[in-house]
Amino acid sequence: MDRQARITEIEQFIGYVIEQWPRDRARYQDQIAQRCTRCILSDRCAPIEDGLCAHCRAFEAASEPDPATTVSFPGASEEAIGAVLSRYAGAGAQDYDALVMFSGGKDSAYVLHRLRTEFASLRVLAVTVDNGFLSPVAMDNVQRALPLLEGVDHMVYRARPRLYAQTFRHAFTHLNEGGCYATVDRMDGDLTLDIGRNLAASMRIPLLVIGLSPPQVGGILGLSTFETTPAEEARRRTTAAGFDLEALYASDDWKYWWDGTRWPAESVPHVLYPFCGWNYDEQQIRGDVVRLGLVGPNQDNPLITNNDTIPLMLAVDSMFLGFSGFEPEFARLVRGGGADRNFWLAVCEALELLTRQGRFLPGCLDDTLGRLDLTRKDVGLPEQQTAAA
Ligand SMILES: [Zn+2]
Repeated sequence: MDRQARITEIEQFIGYVIEQWPRDRARYQDQIAQRCTRCILSDRCAPIEDGLCAHCRAFEAASEPDPATTVSFPGASEEAIGAVLSRYAGAGAQDYDALVMFSGGKDSAYVLHRLRTEFASLRVLAVTVDNGFLSPVAMDNVQRALPLLEGVDHMVYRARPRLYAQTFRHAFTHLNEGGCYATVDRMDGDLTLDIGRNLAASMRIPLLVIGLSPPQVGGILGLSTFETTPAEEARRRTTAAGFDLEALYASDDWKYWWDGTRWPAESVPHVLYPFCGWNYDEQQIRGDVVRLGLVGPNQDNPLITNNDTIPLMLAVDSMFLGFSGFEPEFARLVRGGGADRNFWLAVCEALELLTRQGRFLPGCLDDTLGRLDLTRKDVGLPEQQTAAA
């Protein structure tokens, strides 16, 4: 499938979600899960009473914020993040002070923009790790943003192609109870961040900046802090998504995973998650990066940016869990006012119905499966339906 066909299929889905789904919804209501009237959460994910999911009921009732709803990072603030960034300006032993993971998505573009404009003396290297499944739009966004990020150098890192393909193939066929979000996406994220750690260590770059959203830092990485110090980073990762890495990989692939004990102490980076202290408003960030020209108009949707594996993850989770593993994260953003409820509600509902009918982005799904040497049956998806609804 060529890149334009992929983009066209996704744009048609988004067009359907925005234009047609609100009119189709009533007709299919009995075929899809009930959803929370405040956020978007499916009753397959959390019980719903009087229209509200358990998280929203807790959110409304509690004087203390529900820990499942609000991710808080003690001590995190604009000032605390700024203090770390200022401390490292000029501190690198060699050419750079900060390595910023740059996926081409809106969040990492926004981080780079803020570092460039607010911390101009920080010497920044942006790194894009190409896992072989980066969407063409993500690479376009990288190319578009770089000329606008004055003073930022950029590097693309490509590991041997089989590294990620093998990782994804194993993860898609050995899902844990959290589905793709907690298995495939987790392996991808952990491996990519560990490659970033290794690059920072080998290039003696003392600060690693990661533009994950607060729900991702809290929910996926399981961190309750906006930073990890070099002392905390001086450890070895032995598992990811529950898999024993030594058992899963040949020994010459172990080097991609982080082993902070094999580096001298002064090479181990400090890791910073700036969105934990900055206000994370998905819609505001989306608006800002499009206005600044860092992300193309209509190319800021996470279905299109990021990875070609995402549509497959959404569909597999929809069958495996009954909802997409990304839903709790978007529900949390909707609940906090940081994401557009109507859009995400429609995406989740249409995804659920079309996946079961074998009509959700069929070309994209089969293309990604083919590249992973997997079939629909291998990942529990119904065969593609070509008949109209
Ligand atoms: Zn809710």
